[in-house]
Amino acid sequence: MRTLGLIGGMSAESTAVYYRELTRLVRERLGGLSSCQLVLWSVDFAPIAALQARDDWEATGAILADAARRLEAAGAEAIVICANTMHLNAPQVAAAVAVPVIHIADATAAALKALGVARPLLLATRFTMEKAFYRDRLAALDLPALIPDQADRDRLHAIIFDELCLGVIRPESRAEVLAMIARGQAAGADGIIFGCTEIGLLLDPADMPLPTVDTAVAHAEAAVAFALG
Ligand code: GLU
Repeated sequence: MRTLGLIGGMSAESTAVYYRELTRLVRERLGGLSSCQLVLWSVDFAPIAALQARDDWEATGAILADAARRLEAAGAEAIVICANTMHLNAPQVAAAVAVPVIHIADATAAALKALGVARPLLLATRFTMEKAFYRDRLAALDLPALIPDQADRDRLHAIIFDELCLGVIRPESRAEVLAMIARGQAAGADGIIFGCTEIGLLLDPADMPLPTVDTAVAHAEAAVAFALG
């Protein structure tokens, strides 16, 4: 089995999901007491979130590149950035190490295609929804994504940072995101991306009105395919 190197803590709530999924998937594939071999570098998210809010992606990139180097030195054979937003720094991370970066958008695109989705609604942080790095990557894979309108984007961003990243799950927020999904469906979306690794804490893909990919789960599946490949 190859060793995975996880950059986690963004947030800690969803890194716990990665750990659970990675270990569960390897046990499922190999049986018995098998579990995923990995190294986790869990960052302090507060300074990174502050840099994100200031749009200082050079500084966040330096922190993530440093984490990736430490993971490689500890034996990681691939890097897994456990968040969608921080894939904005995937190029800096890839340049810092010799091992591959398993990209969350590629894993998500493959999962969407397996479900027959062609026009997904992207639910994520404001950064992931509004900046080019994520939607361009999906579009290059023939998956042009729809995003909610400005008011919904602002509200979803607040739900992610003020609630989900702190482990706060509110039924009212669940209803609000479901209303965003209904509006996306009316606008022509034929699938949904939980494009923030915390959204799966609020909603279950199985309960959605459209085929749905939880990026944390799709990313963990891609990482396990690499580890066992
Ligand atoms: N975990 C999140 C994501 O998947 C949001 C936290 C962050 O901004 O890094 O984008």
